[in-house]
Amino acid sequence: MKRIFIVGAGITGAVIARELAENGHKILVMDERPHIAGNCHSERDPLTGVMEHKYGPHIFHTDKKEIWNYTNRFCEMMPYVNRVKAIAGGRVYSLPVNLHTINQLFDKTLSPSEAAEFIKSLARTDIREPSSFEEQALAMVGEKIYMTFFEGYTRKQWGLDPKLLPASILKRLPLRFNYDDNYYAHPYQGIPATGYTEMVRKILEHEGIEVVLGCKFEDHNGKFDHVYYTGPIDRYFGYSEGRLEYRTLKFDTLRVKGDYQGNAVINYCDSDVPFTRITEHKYFAPWEMGSFSSSICYKEYSSQCGHEDEPYYPVRHAGYSDLLNKYIGLAKLQNGVSFVGRLGTYRYIDMDAAIAEALTAARESVSLFNCKQELPSFFIDMH
Ligand SMILES: Cc1cc2nc3c(=O)[nH]c(=O)nc-3n(C[C@H](O)[C@H](O)[C@H](O)COP(=O)(O)OP(=O)(O)OC[C@H]3O[C@@H](n4cnc5c(N)ncnc54)[C@H](O)[C@@H]3O)c2cc1C
Repeated sequence: MKRIFIVGAGITGAVIARELAENGHKILVMDERPHIAGNCHSERDPLTGVMEHKYGPHIFHTDKKEIWNYTNRFCEMMPYVNRVKAIAGGRVYSLPVNLHTINQLFDKTLSPSEAAEFIKSLARTDIREPSSFEEQALAMVGEKIYMTFFEGYTRKQWGLDPKLLPASILKRLPLRFNYDDNYYAHPYQGIPATGYTEMVRKILEHEGIEVVLGCKFEDHNGKFDHVYYTGPIDRYFGYSEGRLEYRTLKFDTLRVKGDYQGNAVINYCDSDVPFTRITEHKYFAPWEMGSFSSSICYKEYSSQCGHEDEPYYPVRHAGYSDLLNKYIGLAKLQNGVSFVGRLGTYRYIDMDAAIAEALTAARESVSLFNCKQELPSFFIDMH
């Protein structure tokens, strides 16, 4: 039996804890927040009764049956399909850009093949080697679609002119030549019936797991055989090499009688509207919609992450890799510490990827524990 310390009670920390505990190890999970589940945390709003996604809305989606089955061990996943709308220039459109969007925007009634030909005719063929996000988008869809749906939204989300963002951010624009408006292409999609926090609570519910909340890793000095660290990698080293850049989100909470916008997510694409989207949380639980007379919504603002803010999205475009490489170098010198999860590896990862990586990390550890005294650190490619 090994004693394992896991920093962070998010989905990554919880899955590693469970897997190791099921294999007979003793686990301490610590989180500085007063709740488990990390950024997926959801709780009932005391005023409306609606299940509120406290760090922004989360929809579980995956193409991996094993991961879908794993979550269903710990919760009842309710069917949910994310259908996002966009408001631009005072009109409402369907997203992601599909045949409906194209016909709405250009006031046409094109068939799938006509629309494909039409978009081809709009794409900027003179841009052969796109050198920015903007050029990449123009080469794919042309001026009007780019300006309506991507220019302002991208500018607000990243706080930068899209001309200054690298083309690599935009490998592919989700463009559909049919009326499919399901935001995600994955076959498995849902939301836990009683919320993500309850799902994570069940994952952590094991006699081999102790959970301590409201406590920082930095303030703790126990002796353990191995540490899994899911906090920010630069923070672990006291920001000795400088700070990795993040975007943060601020939410303005609105509560209204009845309905506010009639949909879970509406993106606001125009650059003169300061927020990026409004999310109406009762629409993320269609199975309990009838139960609420009021509604709670978040108006979402994106900005540069200050020292006291929550780090949300890693900004991987302005020479980040030199700094990240320094931290990877330091991480490799650590004995008995594995850096995992979205902050530990400085990547945006969806929940299904977080679970898959956590299972891999834990399973590798279990097989190594069986043949070694010391556990070497587990490394995920952070690039
Ligand atoms: C706005 C937004 C929307 C998203 N929507 C979706 C979605 O719809 N679908 C989807 O699949 N994914 C979504 N994601 C991604 C999802 O949030 C992540 O996959 C998930 O949170 C990863 O879990 P984690 O455990 O790695 O990290 P986290 O959830 O960030 O957990 C890390 C935990 O570590 C704790 N911690 C950090 N440092 C310390 C320390 N020094 N001491 C003690 N505790 C510490 C933190 O308090 C935190 O609770 C979204 C992400 C964002 C930002």
